Amino acid sequence: MSTVLETEEHQALRAAVAALGKRYGRDYTTSVVRGGAHPRELWAEAAKLGYLGVNLPEEYGGGGGGMAELSIVLEELGAAGSPLLMMVVSPAICGTVIARFGTEAQQRQWLPGLADGSLTMAFGITEPDAGSNSHRITTTARKDGEDWLLTGRKVFVSGVDIADATLVVGRTEDARSGRLKPCLFIVPRDAPGFRRSQIDMELQAPEKQFELVLDDVRLPADALVGDEDAGLLQLFAGLNPERIMTAAFGIGMGRYALARAVDYAKTRQVWKEPIGSHQAIAHPLAQAHIELELARLMMQKAARLYDDGDDIGAGEAANMAKYAAGEACVKAVDQAVHTLGGNGLTREYGLASLITAARVARIAPVSREMILNYVSHQSLGLPKSY
Ligand SMILES: Cc1cc2nc3c(=O)[nH]c(=O)nc-3n(C[C@H](O)[C@H](O)[C@H](O)COP(=O)(O)OP(=O)(O)OC[C@H]3O[C@@H](n4cnc5c(N)ncnc54)[C@H](O)[C@@H]3O)c2cc1C
Repeated sequence: MSTVLETEEHQALRAAVAALGKRYGRDYTTSVVRGGAHPRELWAEAAKLGYLGVNLPEEYGGGGGGMAELSIVLEELGAAGSPLLMMVVSPAICGTVIARFGTEAQQRQWLPGLADGSLTMAFGITEPDAGSNSHRITTTARKDGEDWLLTGRKVFVSGVDIADATLVVGRTEDARSGRLKPCLFIVPRDAPGFRRSQIDMELQAPEKQFELVLDDVRLPADALVGDEDAGLLQLFAGLNPERIMTAAFGIGMGRYALARAVDYAKTRQVWKEPIGSHQAIAHPLAQAHIELELARLMMQKAARLYDDGDDIGAGEAANMAKYAAGEACVKAVDQAVHTLGGNGLTREYGLASLITAARVARIAPVSREMILNYVSHQSLGLPKSY
């Protein structure tokens, strides 16, 4: 893989994380999933080595880097077969939002723990009746004295069981216009009135998804992150890192599957030559490699723009990177399974379950179609149908 676009520090980080990933790998993740456990050991070790907080401010124990570094970490763990999905949420969304917009007290309370892995935060925006249309979310916060009372429902929120708190996207009423404006609240896992039920997913992943019910959850004034009037800006500051990290997740998984297929194609021989010599097998693998490399280029662009403070430019690039990575991941996994013939579907080779897992990168956090809508309208200026 070419690394000319990365600094020596980035290359060293990539190599070090790859070495850590290799020590855990797909067997580790598989055994965690089969045991119904969480990847605590890998999470703790990655945190101890400074990888989970690499994007967080140094004064709070982070590495002082940005999305360029954090995306390298997730990509390499994924390429080793042991991605940590909660990285998309805890350090990338929640850590970024708190570091950029949280009060000093919130930063002191959360950032050191998010950086050293001792605290985890989930992120809940999706609602059953809103889905892709986040303008339609109805989780509402109203003032009760100094406190907030938060009521609503969320769905598909990852890792709520292991997270110390969930950053919940709600709305408050604008005193002047009466319109609802987005706001972010930190909701502790055991807050009274905050209930979760696990969704029975077909995914074989250590991270579980939950439906959440918030029934007049009483929160102190300082549960509101940042400024009540700048909610949208703050939200978008977290959503771009989420897209960049989902791209890293997809690229890592795609690389993992492709590497398994290439190994297999080099040795499996049913005619004169290994099956990798047949172009019908080799070319789709070459295409998958090209598409993963292209997706990484766009991810690097998005990370650079974001880290340079260009939120608008990063928005377009992060969407495109997420799109490209989701598509490249789905194709690479599909072709990898096919390359292994019957073994592609065996438990021993463990690739078939990635067919479902790869779809996550196409659906979440924003679906392929919604990115195509964004590019049609924002980049190309085409009219909207909805
Ligand atoms: C494994 C997993 C983990 C997740 N983790 C989290 C999490 O931690 N926190 C969280 O908040 N959410 C999470 N999600 C939710 C995820 O972000 C949503 O599933 C996603 O945003 C899509 O919303 P939806 O499922 O309601 O689909 P819908 O919005 O109902 O869309 C269904 C289909 O219709 C298409 N569609 C919708 N509107 C349009 C349109 N205008 N034009 C064209 N096509 C359209 C979509 O592209 C999609 O294919 C997770 C989801 C999964 C699968």
